[in-house]
Amino acid sequence: MTLCARADGAKRTFSLWSRTRKSTPQRAVGVLLTSRTADLARPRVAIVTHGPGAFMGELAQLACRRALVDAYASEAVEALVIPPDRLRALLIAEAELGERVMRALILRRVGLLQAGAGGPVIIGRPDNGDVLRLEGFLARNGHPRQTLNPDADLDAKALIERFNVDPGQLPIVLCPSGQLLRNPGEIELARCIGLVGPIDPDRLYDVAVVGAGPAGLATAVYAASEGLSVLVLDSRAFGGQAGASSRIENYLGFPTGITGMALMARAYTQAQKFGAEMAIPTEVIGLGGRNDADESRFILNLSNDERVSARAVVIASGARYRRLEIADLEKFEGSSVHYWASPLEAKLCAKQELALVGGGNSAGQATVYLADHASKVWLLVRGADLNASMSHYLVDRIAGLPNVEVVTQAEISGLEGGVGTLEAIRWRQRMSADEVRRPIRHLFLFIGAEPNTDWLSGSGVALDDKGFVLTSGDGANRHPLETNRRGIFAIGDVRAGSVKRVAAAVGEGAHAVAALHAFLAATTRDPVVRAPA
Ligand SMILES: Cc1cc2nc3c(=O)[nH]c(=O)nc-3n(C[C@H](O)[C@H](O)[C@H](O)COP(=O)(O)OP(=O)(O)OC[C@H]3O[C@@H](n4cnc5c(N)ncnc54)[C@H](O)[C@@H]3O)c2cc1C
Repeated sequence: MTLCARADGAKRTFSLWSRTRKSTPQRAVGVLLTSRTADLARPRVAIVTHGPGAFMGELAQLACRRALVDAYASEAVEALVIPPDRLRALLIAEAELGERVMRALILRRVGLLQAGAGGPVIIGRPDNGDVLRLEGFLARNGHPRQTLNPDADLDAKALIERFNVDPGQLPIVLCPSGQLLRNPGEIELARCIGLVGPIDPDRLYDVAVVGAGPAGLATAVYAASEGLSVLVLDSRAFGGQAGASSRIENYLGFPTGITGMALMARAYTQAQKFGAEMAIPTEVIGLGGRNDADESRFILNLSNDERVSARAVVIASGARYRRLEIADLEKFEGSSVHYWASPLEAKLCAKQELALVGGGNSAGQATVYLADHASKVWLLVRGADLNASMSHYLVDRIAGLPNVEVVTQAEISGLEGGVGTLEAIRWRQRMSADEVRRPIRHLFLFIGAEPNTDWLSGSGVALDDKGFVLTSGDGANRHPLETNRRGIFAIGDVRAGSVKRVAAAVGEGAHAVAALHAFLAATTRDPVVRAPA
């Protein structure tokens, strides 16, 4: 028997447990990278050869998505094929085995990420704004990729010639299916690499969660593990703002700290283990009423004209970074102005001077992280000192960094440069008439956040004067965390009065599930809901 689990176009995803007959112990299954993109750009790479008793499988298969690798049997082999739903059941029922398999799947994905193997190939200059956008999108979704610079890489040059791409159309992306995209949007790229598929318009979920930050993922984990059918939608990537944190040091249970991405990737995988479905990236643009024709469902309208039906909705859409009111800002966004300090940005400004604006904890964390890579960090703060707005441990750490200069009572007064290339930044201090000008190519902005509630306009959900969602809590005969509309709950940073912390968001995500059970039990004629133990 020959086994061949193809990545590209494969509708069926399996985990394979390979087992050879005792009489032929040398029989083995070789697992090779077989994306067609890799075929075009680079030779295929063998990752591992499995022998008797080994198990194959890739993290994407947990969520019924295409695996990032293909498996080839080098000779006849017997294998036990386990479909994704049975694998998830096994992970839950067999705790010890489940832990081993889960750990292996995570480590295998980490290996692919580190090797840049198995994903799409982006061809474009590394400092191009669209290359950074696409790389950032894939990195935040935990998806491997390769980037080839046509100025330095002969393969990239050959591909550009082969596909008749003129330099103005860069970057191009080659997907594992062999499809070529010209400077795609994130949703187009996600569809091409199988990150997101069509949503079943007839499916009625118990709960639709809008936002895959810590609050939304916590709801997904607890709701799915307690038997509810859950769909999580996020317009960008899992992890939300927490995914932007270079090191979270105040989350219970991680005494040495953990990167936001690592914490959130675990939660994302955990939610899928319990069967929560993910639609990322998918933007929700409207929340319809309980449908006129069917009183038992809410309708979410999506930017791609699709719709989602659910018995209850959890608003976990959090907050987004505030932009600076300064001329020409948009000219430099994406290439020189950043709202995120991840390894990608750190690499971009390695050994250079940079400016960072903000006086809160997120600014402090980013400063500490970037100071490790940059030659100098100018930390521009509006207030008179950092202590008023930043945690003590960060203020102390910044004070000990020789390449960080804190400029207080400062405001950016101008940005200079051509489109996409910042060349200099000017700022003023309140007590001084002089303007300082520095030749700086990268500006980081961490100046607070505003609620993501535009999509709720016209929904009838009550907001406060700053746009945060009001929950009536225990009053007005409502469930905890329920909004003025029955069956619609709000959690995390988007909720008026919430504590803007990862732990608080996770706590509210879990708390909302108890309220969901109570709501669904009271309103569902034919309960599908198992009460929590
Ligand atoms: C750089 C940084 C560092 C931080 N460090 C710490 C720290 O060390 N410790 C700590 O406790 N807190 C920290 N925080 C704060 C913490 O990250 C937030 O309090 C927490 O992430 C809030 O979680 P949330 O799930 O409510 O919202 P968010 O994390 O904001 O997630 C909301 C999600 O909803 C999605 N979304 C929004 N609108 C839509 C829509 N219309 N359709 C679909 N999806 C949508 C967004 O894409 C996003 O992924 C930090 C924040 C930042 C920015």
